[in-house]
Parts: sequence; structure tokens; C-alpha cells
Amino acid sequence: MTTATAEKPSEHHSFEADVSRLLHMMVHSVYSDKDVFLRELISNAADACEKLRYEATTTPGLAAGEGEARIALTLDEEGRRLTVEDNGIGMSRAELIDALGTIARSGTRAFMERLQAGKPARDASSDEEKESEGGKAEGDSAQLIGQFGVGFYSCFMVASHVDVVSRRAGTDEAWIWSSDGKGSFDIRAADLAEAPARGTRITLHLMDEAKTYASRFTVERIVKAQSGHVPVPIDLIEKPD
Ligand code: ADP
Ligand code: MG
Repeated sequence: MTTATAEKPSEHHSFEADVSRLLHMMVHSVYSDKDVFLRELISNAADACEKLRYEATTTPGLAAGEGEARIALTLDEEGRRLTVEDNGIGMSRAELIDALGTIARSGTRAFMERLQAGKPARDASSDEEKESEGGKAEGDSAQLIGQFGVGFYSCFMVASHVDVVSRRAGTDEAWIWSSDGKGSFDIRAADLAEAPARGTRITLHLMDEAKTYASRFTVERIVKAQSGHVPVPIDLIEKPD
């Protein structure tokens, strides 16, 4: 379906059914350790920088112009927004649609089966098991997210709306993917002026109860604890108010 908006036409897509189910589970019950979303976004950003480096070995000039690989986290406490930006490979329109919603990732179904399989067992567990279950379940969930390749969707645990604007290296077009994580997403062409010169910018419009993820204190703590090994420099930028 195509609908006209003020400037560029916006296309509306439904998430693949497994993706919708996964999102529902993530948002409504499964995780209490929401911090992991940031590790997932940073790890995708670092992967994108690595992919650019790799593709540039066979396509000279692909990485030209935008300098060294970097990841920037921009905090806007007042606007309750957190932005994760990289200058890596970026995504074309087709890649945005495929990677962020349409194609069932091979791991998605297995991931949900693992989570559902774990549930009744925990409900029936003894008091002793229940006591240790909290920490263990969190650890397992966090590991499962990465293991099954469903990392990106974890941002909907903290954001009511997510915008992804991306420009693939070596192209002169940019696209905006946008979703509230409730069954569908929209995609439209972006003006080059509103996109990174190369790579991807992900803006999380944080839920009220997750507004701490726009504060330096929280974000620094998580980056230190979970992303210390990332081989790309991570800058923290506070939006001046
Ligand atoms: P995984 O990283 O395990 O593949 P994710 O859910 O974290 O799973 O990401 C899904 C896909 O979306 C990635 O494989 C990649 O193709 C794409 N993607 C996500 N973030 C970025 C990014 N910052 N730059 C380029 N591609 C990205
Ligand atoms: Mg990932």
C-alpha cells in the first residue's frame, strides 16, 4: 500500500508474522534486563563498520570521505531521545525492508520456542529454584537475543517509536524506516541532508519509564559494562538544550 505524505510518498509494510510475535513477547513479558538493547545496537553499528572495511577491500573508494569508523551516541534528555549513529556500510531500501522486519530470520522461531519452552518449567519450579531464577533468566534472555540474531528488535523494549535513517556506502540515496513495533513499519525516501553522509542513524523515542536511557550516567554505565570490547570508538554527545 502506498500513501502520500506531505513530501515523499511513504510505503506501509506489515512485519512478518514471526517478527510481530517476537516483538510482542519482548515488549510484554520476557525481559527485565532492558539494558541489553544498547549492546545490540552498538554491536550492529560495529558490524556495519566492519562490513564497510571488508567491502572496501574489493571496492576501492567505498570508504572514502567519511574518515575513520566511529559510533556516536547522542543523548537528548529533554526530548527523551537516544540516537545511535555509525558511519559503516549503511542499508539500501531493500536491505532495510529485509533486515528490519519482513524476512523471518532463521533464528527467530527457534528463539521463541526456547523462550516458551522455558516458561512452564519456571512456573513449576521449587522455591529454591525460584530464588535463583531471576538472575539466571535475565542472563539467559540477554544471551539468547544475540545468539539468535534478533538483536535489533530489542530496542522496542525501551522505545515507543524508532526511526532508522540510512545511506548505503557508495550510493546517493537515503531511506527512513520507522515503526512503533506494533505490527508494521513505514519506509520513505529521505533527503540526503537529513541522513548521515554514510551509514545509519537509529533514533529511539524512549518510553516515559525508559527515559533514563537518555542520561549520560546510565548510558556510560551500560557502555562500560557491556561494550568495552567493541573495536570502534564510541563518542557520547549531549544535545545542548
Ligand atoms: P544480527 O546482528 O544478528 O544479524 P540484528 O537483529 O541485530 O541481527 O540485526 C538485523 C540485521 O539488520 C543485521 O544483520 C544487518 O543486516 C541489519 N542492521 C542492523 N543495524 C544495522 C546498522 N547499524 N548498519 C547496517 N545494517 C544494520
Ligand atoms: Mg545484531
